[in-house]
Amino acid sequence: MRCLIVGQGIAGTVLAWTLRQRGAEVQVADAGFSNSSSSIAAGIINPVTGKRFVKSWRFDEFYPFAKNVYRQMEHAWQTPLWHELPILRLLSTPREVNDWAARLSMPGYTLVMSETQSAGSWAAMLPPGQHFGLTKNAARVDFPALLEKFSAQARADGFHRAEQIGPDDALKLAGEYDCIVFCEGYRAVENPFFPKLAWQLSKGEAMLLELNHPDAVTVEQMLKKTLTLVPLGTGVFWAGASFNWTFEDNGPTDAEQQFLEQRLADMVQVSWTVKKRTGAIRPTVKDRRPFLGVSPVHSKMFIFNGLGTKGGLLAPFWAAHLADHLLEGKPLDKEVDIRRFYA
Ligand SMILES: Cc1cc2nc3c(=O)[nH]c(=O)nc-3n(C[C@H](O)[C@H](O)[C@H](O)COP(=O)(O)OP(=O)(O)OC[C@H]3O[C@@H](n4cnc5c(N)ncnc54)[C@H](O)[C@@H]3O)c2cc1C
Repeated sequence: MRCLIVGQGIAGTVLAWTLRQRGAEVQVADAGFSNSSSSIAAGIINPVTGKRFVKSWRFDEFYPFAKNVYRQMEHAWQTPLWHELPILRLLSTPREVNDWAARLSMPGYTLVMSETQSAGSWAAMLPPGQHFGLTKNAARVDFPALLEKFSAQARADGFHRAEQIGPDDALKLAGEYDCIVFCEGYRAVENPFFPKLAWQLSKGEAMLLELNHPDAVTVEQMLKKTLTLVPLGTGVFWAGASFNWTFEDNGPTDAEQQFLEQRLADMVQVSWTVKKRTGAIRPTVKDRRPFLGVSPVHSKMFIFNGLGTKGGLLAPFWAAHLADHLLEGKPLDKEVDIRRFYA
């Protein structure tokens, strides 16, 4: 099986890795567009999301799968990529405290949540009178390191093309490959091989900053309220993200950065120094399920996209699922198959 993968964000990278592990011959093309979603994401894997602390879709299946794949990559490249970090969740209203306790009594939730009275290294940086919950089985995948390691390997081994592949290019290349898989992130909205997909793109902004407090260098938990603060080491934190359905471009804006700083001021009582401001467009979709499958207009063109806000958790499982389909002809799960839009 000879396969061209268009786009080397987290989707294209994990798919290329998976297909190569299973013996396929793979070429990867990336145009290097600035501000891709994968390049600025924190890579957080959070088992409980939303205001009501509901467990993520099929989390118990996806989490061990993802951990195994990222650990294999770490081993291959001798680079830390998978960081298990609990999330200290600030519970700011009596309702949140109640909802947290209620979830804990439900089956399957004690594996991913617990109560705690201690804020650990965060304690001196938080306003007084806080209530907390602790999220377990949370992690951070170092997307930038992962993308760079894979790209370096692909360049060294001669299977990387630093170029944009448009529809005409793909048609010309179709004779050379058994399949061309588009992993273009939000740019796929313009791809004519995949019309009628129910995209609902969203923009997110984030910051890299230093917290000006001596305890900041010892923090080993993420901190979450309306934003998530992720320790990256040596007192530097990723702080984000905002969420907007309407936007003009994929760069950072004054309004959203101000919004982030206001939210941050609600969470910590220390000053900070912003090091970098970032923004990107997420490939989010209306029914919150990934897009996998063959084009309705060309039998060699495939898509792997729609990972939304959860690329870190979803990419490994669904890349393996698509690989099963491409290499062994196994049927795609109807929930993710793009034929749901072409019935
Ligand atoms: C602010 C923010 C925070 C986020 N935080 C998290 C988080 O903590 N955890 C998490 O799991 N997810 C997070 N996400 C979501 C996550 O970023 C996405 O789920 C994921 O990165 C999508 O990856 P992708 O590979 O599909 O797309 P992208 O990352 O957009 O990658 C697409 C790639 O394709 C290339 N490309 C596009 N078109 C072409 C073409 N025609 N030819 C060649 N190359 C092309 C681009 O250059 C790019 O490299 C966050 C997103 C944002 C914006």
